[in-house]
Amino acid sequence: MRATLIHAPRDIRVEDVPDPQIRRPGDALVRVVAACVCGSDLWPYRGVTETTEPHRIGHEFVGVVEELGSEVSTLKTGDFVIAPFALSDGTCGHCRNGVHTSCANGAWWGGEDKDGLPIDAGQGEAVRVPMADGTLVATPDLPDESMIAGLLTLSDVMGTGHHAALSAGVSPGSNVVVVGDGAVGQCAIIAAKRLGAERIIAMSRHADRQALARDLGATDVVAERGDDGVARAEELLGGVGADASLECVGTKESMQQALDATRPGGRVGYVGVPAGGSELPIRKLISSNISVGGGVAPVRGYIPDLLADVLSGAIDPGRVFDLELPLEQAPQAYAAMDERRSIKTMLRP
Ligand SMILES: [Zn+2]
Repeated sequence: MRATLIHAPRDIRVEDVPDPQIRRPGDALVRVVAACVCGSDLWPYRGVTETTEPHRIGHEFVGVVEELGSEVSTLKTGDFVIAPFALSDGTCGHCRNGVHTSCANGAWWGGEDKDGLPIDAGQGEAVRVPMADGTLVATPDLPDESMIAGLLTLSDVMGTGHHAALSAGVSPGSNVVVVGDGAVGQCAIIAAKRLGAERIIAMSRHADRQALARDLGATDVVAERGDDGVARAEELLGGVGADASLECVGTKESMQQALDATRPGGRVGYVGVPAGGSELPIRKLISSNISVGGGVAPVRGYIPDLLADVLSGAIDPGRVFDLELPLEQAPQAYAAMDERRSIKTMLRP
């Protein structure tokens, strides 16, 4: 089959790889219907994180179950399934606590399972899914083509935006600042609105992303950065900072922006994968009573709730996709996202 590999920074190739097969009784074989490029895939692409040898890449996909191992009990052949960005068994103590990303038997797409067998990554034609019962979520019916984009966001970005909002304690009436206008930031806006936020300020400098943010629920847009951005947000909030700031980028600057935009006693929810230099200023936190929560989003646990809202049309996170390319054009997809020509690019095998 065909699948995407990263060889080195800016060297993405679609190549022939072995066809996946059922290897263990808990496996599912999933034919990928749609996959996508994540903002965090851009860190190795840009050379921010090192690529020591060519490896498979991609951790967001939806697909159809083609074959099942003998022990899989919650899925059937032909099911349409959503794959969260991390594999989990669903049964260990951490999974039962809702922290599926810390699963005692957890694994990552493109990595290895606990038996040391390779796991396919998401940007390919098919995937062997170990721990299929714990990892995959099936939709009630085969979704219409128009639903694919929304369902694909449940692999990562919608659940991650939701995690930022939950971690920041967004609740009915909250005033929220969202730092980051990429796919996660846009989904954080959807999540904040869904949780009842009254005022949602999107910090964005790009006209197309500002427009999308407003469509998805932002009540205000602040284009300024740094102290000017904080001052503008405070002005909009009547001289007080935000109840909740959602940090959806992962840089030192974005975390600073989120902290500075938060009112005393407020909360920062952070989900941006740190790309260097982010540190928490404990002295500022203690003097201002600002709390910080978040981390890598345990999206597996959020899928059932969010899925219901996607299927009912209550939320439409699929709008973050603004480019769709065939899998063979994965290199162009990475370039489009790297150059910010695309907010999020879908790949279709
Ligand atoms: Zn577990």
